[in-house]
Formats: sequence, structure tokens, C-alpha cells
Amino acid sequence: MPLLHWFRPPRYLLTLYLAGAVTGVLCLAWLAGRLLDQEQAVESQRERAQLEVAADRAVAVFQRSLNELERQAFSTDGPLPPDILAIVADRLSIRSRPAGRVVFVPIVPPSSALPPGIFAAGEQAEFGKAGLASAIDIYRALTRAQSRAVRAGALVRLGRTLRKAGRHPEALDTYAELARMEDVRIDGRPADLIAREARCTVLEETAQRALLEREANDLRRDLASGRWTLTRAPWEFAYSETSAWAGSAATPINGLDAAIAFAAAADALWQQWDGRPTSGQAVMRLADRPVLAVWKADAVRMVAALAGLEYLETICGQVSIDANAQVALADRDGQPILGRVSGRQAIRAAADTGLPWAIAVAADHPDRAVADALVRRRLLLAGLGLVGALIVGSSYFTFRGIRRELAIARLQSEFVSAVSHEFRTPLTSMRQLSHMLLAGRVISDDRRGQYYAVLVRESERLHRLVEKLLSFGRAESGAGRYRFEPLDAGDLVRSVTTEFHGHADGWSLETTTPSTPCPVRADREMLALALWNLLDNAMKYSPDCRTIWIELSVGGTRASIAVRDQGIGIPPADRQRIFRKFERGTQAAESGVQGTGIGLAIVHHVIHAHGGEVRLESEVGRGSTFTIVIPMETTA
Ligand code: ADP
Repeated sequence: MPLLHWFRPPRYLLTLYLAGAVTGVLCLAWLAGRLLDQEQAVESQRERAQLEVAADRAVAVFQRSLNELERQAFSTDGPLPPDILAIVADRLSIRSRPAGRVVFVPIVPPSSALPPGIFAAGEQAEFGKAGLASAIDIYRALTRAQSRAVRAGALVRLGRTLRKAGRHPEALDTYAELARMEDVRIDGRPADLIAREARCTVLEETAQRALLEREANDLRRDLASGRWTLTRAPWEFAYSETSAWAGSAATPINGLDAAIAFAAAADALWQQWDGRPTSGQAVMRLADRPVLAVWKADAVRMVAALAGLEYLETICGQVSIDANAQVALADRDGQPILGRVSGRQAIRAAADTGLPWAIAVAADHPDRAVADALVRRRLLLAGLGLVGALIVGSSYFTFRGIRRELAIARLQSEFVSAVSHEFRTPLTSMRQLSHMLLAGRVISDDRRGQYYAVLVRESERLHRLVEKLLSFGRAESGAGRYRFEPLDAGDLVRSVTTEFHGHADGWSLETTTPSTPCPVRADREMLALALWNLLDNAMKYSPDCRTIWIELSVGGTRASIAVRDQGIGIPPADRQRIFRKFERGTQAAESGVQGTGIGLAIVHHVIHAHGGEVRLESEVGRGSTFTIVIPMETTA
């Protein structure tokens, strides 16, 4: 029931308002959730679109770079970027630009022609019964032959025979002479390479370690520089043999792996070329490194460009900057070639782009994008939180305002009924008495006199009530409507108590005032009204003890008028509230004492308009003391 009571008009307005505010806040929270979701979706869509654009840009840059590479490599002259090797091959030979950069080739030039059986006699002696000495003589004679090919062949054999004969210094000299014949090929191998290898063998046999290591290392470096036209297997054999001879003296050779990879790529391209026109691009994985090959061939000539990791890294870096993204490449089988990307990616397959690799593109700074999104989200949340807080805050204050207005409305209606009640009691008795007097039903003069006295008292009571109501408006309007004048507070207290005493039959008023004047600046009428109200209350709320104590005292620059009774007292919870208009104490309402709830409000307004204050000390069941404190007038 009390709950239903609460919902009676006009409180349902409050309920409606509260429901509206709560719904508003809930809607806002829902909206915030939706906005966040949407923001996230838009953000991820934007990210995806950005990645797609970056991937397209990357494809364009790669295509441009490859076109440029083809243009540079397929023109027969002009500089080439570093780490690029151009290959020009026909069916019988293969050349590189820059020259000598392939360490081995798929095909070698034919050996120099020799007259048939030219070394037959020497070899018969060498391997037959005639002996090494006679073989040496035969070969030595041939070293003076006209033909360089014969001379070279003779020197090889002479060196070999001298070695077998244990004449090592002579063998070394012979090989040194042969090493100077750089343009002759014996059995498909360059004569100078054969001579230098043979010298190493002799040095090894004669345990000339230091010299061997030095010569072997030089030979190794020449092999690595692509000095000789060799096929892969002989080159690899020679290189590993010389490396073993060089031992601890073997110095590292920069770029050898790349050179081997290039040579292997050129080898593979040449092997694939079957004499038919062809062209293409591919990434080959050779000697564990990626090599980009771009080639073009007709029936007689093949041109190719080979690019290594360095080149790929350079264009990848360029793409990264251009597209503002991380870029990774993978070959057609999905094996990574270069780079690594993480997070969300856009992929371009090799088949779609015509490039020799697949491209994966990811945001350059995914963390930054995440951080930006987080900041935006936080701002949005903060904004919505602020709006929510504003709604809650304003709802709270509006709620309080409405509640106060409702309370005042209640108090006002109680006030109207209290005032009506206060009017009705004296009016009823006045009506009855005047009717009796008019009808001449009161014969005794004494009784008539008494009735007239009652009529006077009740009409004065009504007058005071009307005055009180009228003064309430004046008291409330502030000091502007007060008429301040210098007066003696002692005089005022005495005159008010005397007048009040005339209206309080059977009551004793014990008044104490100082003997010296107590000058104050006050509105006589209003201050008297305030004091009267205090005396009136003391009388109303003191049912048992019929004495009121009034004391005027001076403390420093202030005068205090205390009105004390031994009445019902005021509970602590009421002590502030009762100074507000229309507010009545709980005990007063319960004990049935009539009142309007404006007496103390008048006192409060009047004393504040005088620059003073009202103090209250009270004990329930023991009485109350209201003290008016106002400033005294100082005489300069
Ligand atoms: P009312 O017309 O109800 O007396 P007032 O504004 O004069 O209105 O006083 C407000 C309330 O203060 C009273 O209803 C009463 O509860 C309490 N009150 C005032 N004076 C006294 C007093 N002397 N003793 C006890 N209660 C008092």
C-alpha cells in the first residue's frame, strides 16, 4: 500500500521522469555499443581498402622495375645496375656483361688441333722400355715446335716425365713456361690452368708448403673470378682441389655464392633453350639463393638478365616506401623469396599479375594503426561517457527540483488547510456569541460583558493571524522593505512582553533586561513580530509549565534575546527544517496543536535581514530556548 500511495499524482510525474531518464541513458549505452561496432567495421574496411591499394601500387612498381631491367639488359650497351648480369649466348658460346662474371659455362670452345700421333714416340718411351730419359729428350725437342698447340702438349708431357723422374725443379720450370701459354686449350682445358695445377701437385710432392699454399690460393681466386671458360664439373673440381691445397691460406672470396648462383642460372637457361624463340621471367633458387631471370631468345641468340638478392631487396624497399607497406615475395610454389609480413595482408598471385612471384602486402605500422583506432575509440567513449554523465547529472538535479516542488506543493496545501482551520475556530465562536447577543438571549449584564470580552479576544486573534500572514510576505521579501531605526532593545523586549502578557491569561513571563540601554538598529514592528512569534510558540508548545523566561543580554557587539520554555522540546531531526516556510515539527503535528508553519520562517527572515542569527537549544520533553542574536549599534 505505501508503494501504491507513493505513485499517486503528482508523484507519477517523478516516476515517469525517472523512467525517461533511465531509458535515455540505456539508449545512449546501446548507441555507444552500436557506434563502437560500426567504427570497428569501418576501420577494418578502410584498412582492407588501403592494403588493396598498396598491393596494386606494389604490382605496378614491380612491373615498372622489371620492364626497366629488361630494357637495360636487352640493349647491348649502356651501364647495368649493380648485382645485375646480362648474358648473351648462341649455340656455341656464352658471354656475360660485365665480362668474365660467370664462373662456369654450359659449353666450352674446342681444343686446339694437333697433328695426329705427334706425341706417340715420346709416350712409347715414357711408358715403354726406353725409359724416362729418352722420353724427356723427345718431348724437349717437341717444345721447340712451330705450333703452339704442339708446344703446349709437349710441355705438359715433359713436365709430367720430369716429375716422374724425380727432377722436380725442372718440372716446375717446365710448368711455369706452359703457364704463360694462356690462349691454348689442351683436351678442352686451358693450358695455363693445367700448368698451374701441375705446379701445385709438384710443390705438394716436394712438401714446399708455403709456396704451394700461396700458388694454390692465387689459382683459387682466378677460378672464382671466372678467368677460364670451364663447364661446371671441372670448375667445381678445380676449385675444391685448390681450396684444399691453399689450406689455412685460403682467403674468403666475396660474392662467390652469388657468382655461382648466376652461373648456374645462366647454365639452366642455356640448357632450356632449344633453339626456338622464347621469352620469360622466373625466380630460380640456386645455391640456396633466389636469382631473378628475365630472358628473350630467337633461333640463334639468347639474351638474359640475371638479378640477385640485392636487386630484389632494392626494388622491394622501393615498393615498401612507395606503397607505404611491408612487402614479401614468394615464388610460384609458395616458397618465400624475400621479406616477411605479419598481420592482415593483401595477396597478389603471380598468375594474376604476370610477375614471376606472388606478392603479400601488409600495413607498414600495424601497431600504429591499432593505436590510432584505440585513441579514436577512447575519444568516442569519453564523449559518450560525458553525455551520459550530463544526462545523469541533469536528471539528478531535475529530480531533486521536482521533488522539492512537490514537497512545497504538499506543504502549501497543508498550510491552506491549517490557516482555514485557524480562522474557523474563532469565527465559529464569534458567530455564535454575536447571534446570541443579537437575539437578546443573554439577559445578565455580567454574562454579556464576558461575551463581549470573548468577542474582542477572538477578533484580536483573527487580526493577529491576518497580520502574521501579511507580514510573512514582507519578511520574505528581504531587508529592502524594512524600516530600520535606532532603538533600545530593552524597551522593545519589555513592551512586547507586556503586550503579550495581556493576551496570555494565567501565564507568567519572567523577563530579564540589563539596566543600561542596549542600542540596536532595527525595524521595530518586524523585530517585535519575531519576538511575539517566539513567545506565542513557547506558549503553544508548553502544555504543562505555564512560565516563559525572556532574557536580554549583551555579549561584545551583539545583543541576544533568549526565549525559554519548559515545553515539549524539539527533536534533533526537526531543528533545521522548522525554520523553512510551511514546515511543522513532527511532535507539533502529532500533539494536535494548531499552526501554519510560518512563525519561525518569519523569525528567520527578520533576523537575517537584521544581520543576525537565530540559535536553538532544545531537549525533547524538557523545553526549548530560541535565541535571537543581532548586532548592536556602535556609536562612533
Ligand atoms: P507553527 O504554526 O506550527 O507553530 P512555526 O513556524 O511557528 O509554526 O513553528 C514551526 C514548528 O516548530 C512548530 O510546528 C513546532 O513543531 C516547532 N516549535 C516552534 N517553537 C517551539 C517550541 N517553543 N517548543 C516546541 N516546538 C516548537
